[in-house]
Amino acid sequence: MKKLDKYNEKRNFNKTNEPNGKVNKKRSKKLRFVVQHHIARKDHYDLRLEFNGVLKSWAVPKGPSYNTKDKRLAVLVEDHPYEYRNFEGCIPQGEYGAGTVMIWDEGYLEYINDIPNDFNIKSIKFILKGKRLKGKWTLVHFKEDNWLLIKEKDEYNEFKNIKKLNTSIKTNRTMQEIKEGKNKKLKTSIKDAVIENIKITNPDKLIFKNPNITKLDIAYYYHKVSKRMMPYIQNRIISTIRCPDGVNGDKFFMKHLNSENDGIGKIKIKNKSNKKEDYYYIKDSRGIISEVQMNSFEFHIWGSNIDKINNPNYMVFDLDPDEKLNIKKLRRGVKDLKSILDKLGLKSYLKTSGGKGFHVVVPIKQKMNYRKFRKTSKQIVELLEEEYPDLYTSNMRKAKRKGKIFIDWVRNTKGSTSVAPYSIRLRDKCSVSMPISWKELDTIKPNEITMEDAINRIKKSDPWKTFFD
Ligand code: MN
Repeated sequence: MKKLDKYNEKRNFNKTNEPNGKVNKKRSKKLRFVVQHHIARKDHYDLRLEFNGVLKSWAVPKGPSYNTKDKRLAVLVEDHPYEYRNFEGCIPQGEYGAGTVMIWDEGYLEYINDIPNDFNIKSIKFILKGKRLKGKWTLVHFKEDNWLLIKEKDEYNEFKNIKKLNTSIKTNRTMQEIKEGKNKKLKTSIKDAVIENIKITNPDKLIFKNPNITKLDIAYYYHKVSKRMMPYIQNRIISTIRCPDGVNGDKFFMKHLNSENDGIGKIKIKNKSNKKEDYYYIKDSRGIISEVQMNSFEFHIWGSNIDKINNPNYMVFDLDPDEKLNIKKLRRGVKDLKSILDKLGLKSYLKTSGGKGFHVVVPIKQKMNYRKFRKTSKQIVELLEEEYPDLYTSNMRKAKRKGKIFIDWVRNTKGSTSVAPYSIRLRDKCSVSMPISWKELDTIKPNEITMEDAINRIKKSDPWKTFFD
């Protein structure tokens, strides 16, 4: 019997909205747990702990208790899919588990003892890092499917009476409201939703699903990285990608802005037909948060600052491979480009694109206009093309014909943009275009750095520290 067969057998997915049983094959960096309050034939709580790609599940009739003297019966039930942790709603009458399910708590999990794969073990000790359940807990196996859930002594023992917590940790709804299918209530804590003096409305709006990332999570991320990000984005004309309905909804590429917003400046630039148009730029870190408030989450920058609008100082080469190209060849391309730049005496810096490729960025001190800047960047790629004619090309069309890597220099043109360092990407998964060190080229994939990783990374030394030297 396969892992989730029991789960799937019990359910008719044409009738219930519960997720189909699939084993999560990705190895989670951090394990998750969920507690669902489930009013079915009997009122109970379901404790689910991530283990080898599924959620090991126990039905706990009385629910968890912070009292170390309480031994709460916990009955081991069939494994649930990893996705089940996001399920809140109704299971229709006549179906297995018919009733209402609320996500009562969720968070991360650490096992203290080693758990064998066959789960044949007397007791499981673990730490919960949830919003309501915290600290050390133990599950003791006593017979057949029967276990006891016990709180261990630690600093959390004086915790509140959790029985009184009767709303969803995720949507703030009561059981009755879930049953009636009411939409999720926004948490009303204004304080939580003010970042850098910018009020974030609809803070709980989901922008990404799986993992769930809200508008407030993104605002918080940019707040955290703004010090590192500002030198690259401040006083540069930007365009942003706006998606008011999340990444799966419509996306708008914003080049112009009509409203007045904190931390954002406007500048008039002549377009190709000599007509002046309003462009905009970030004046200070509040500007980034203002953009997030307007549902703009991805930032693209010009090659020049607004005070020297015709003298670009940020040259970027984008190695964006087509799907068939393996990452080894891509990395080789990045290295070959770097060695050409080294030979030319140009310092260069590396970042992930947050998508499929890498970006090599060259700070330009020499005063040149956009025409010269563009030509120089093209010549650099042509040098590479001469040295390795079968590997690289400066011509997008040739790349398609012969399977070579096209090194995109074309964005080094007035009015063109490239994604800003530290910007998130509005792809299926939320990853960051992250400055990394040259040493990391061989170990980091272009789309693997998450917002959380980025926040941890900026605590360490800055791989682009010398960028403006
Ligand atoms: Mn249940």
